[in-house]
Amino acid sequence: MSHDSSPTANLLDGAAVARTIREEVRTQAALLARSGRAPRLFVILVGHNPASEAYVAGKARAARETGLDVETLRLPAETSPGELLDRIDRANRDLEIDGLLVQLPLPPHHDTHRVLAAIDPWKDVDGFHPENVGLLHQGRPRFVPCTPAGILALLDHYRVALAGCRAVVIGRSDIVGKPMAALLTARDATVTVAHSRTVDLPAVCREADLLVVAIGRPGFVTADFVRSGCVVVDVGMNRLSSLAQAPENLRARERIRHAIETKGTALVGDVDFAAVQPTARLITPVPGGVGPLTVAMLLRNTVQAASNAGRTPKYPK
Ligand code: NAP
Repeated sequence: MSHDSSPTANLLDGAAVARTIREEVRTQAALLARSGRAPRLFVILVGHNPASEAYVAGKARAARETGLDVETLRLPAETSPGELLDRIDRANRDLEIDGLLVQLPLPPHHDTHRVLAAIDPWKDVDGFHPENVGLLHQGRPRFVPCTPAGILALLDHYRVALAGCRAVVIGRSDIVGKPMAALLTARDATVTVAHSRTVDLPAVCREADLLVVAIGRPGFVTADFVRSGCVVVDVGMNRLSSLAQAPENLRARERIRHAIETKGTALVGDVDFAAVQPTARLITPVPGGVGPLTVAMLLRNTVQAASNAGRTPKYPK
């Protein structure tokens, strides 16, 4: 396969696709606002995890910019499991709230599965409630988790053929890896889910036409993992505050050093972008790849929840 020599020729531009999705959401939100009220997202944030604070602020800003109403309820880290479940119950019953999410991770004294199961599945815009997980795996999705939904939108935008392709997903989390595998299977890809116990991971990955990487280790995937012509999607968002956190062989060490010196931290994907880009047919950058799509799909799910509101049975039945 030939490659354009331009360094941006084979980029999957998630930021641009996210802007398009957000414009569609804006139009739908305005229609809903005209016929009643704007879609309303309610976010519960427990504790003071700096990454979670930043994600929640980004979601709220994007929601407002797109014409959605958004409220963030900040609860102290010591909030008891009972108090949190009570706040979720109140949000479930509030007819003015369309989409409800609890930012993860929760402080360790909370049972995350129990919390997610307490959210009204018709307001579950993260798609983590077991009912929505089950529907996704049955091939009749209601709310699809935002990151894999965004990746699918990106691949569709670039007309990446999925039917019959060999896809390898590295990572088997409930948030990314598992739903990504379910979505790709539903689109007739032949999917392998790899993880920390996979034997000879580079060889498994070299079989892939499509490689989705969601591990949480900066620059882990090198050229050795990628065969020529592969489409590479890097989900990793690793925020480094010191160059020592980057692997010795990572090609982007200079960019990382510069970002840390000027901004204090550097955002690095799970893929060694500079090493893999020449081999890949298409590849997402970090930042500007999957991250903006995750937020765009959250907004889309919130509009969907608001559209469902008048037509579907609501909690409590
Ligand atoms: P996670 O829950 O920690 O799961 C990581 C997965 O990677 C696990 O399945 C783990 O395998 C696997 N893994 C870890 N080390 C490995 C290795 N050496 N070889 C092969 N597999 C390995 O993480 P996550 O929530 O899925 O997130 C993954 C990354 O994506 C993180 O950097 C996160 O920040 C990022 N992320 C980005 C977005 C976005 O919007 N861009 C959204 C969500 C997450 P085991 O199951 O065997 O332990």
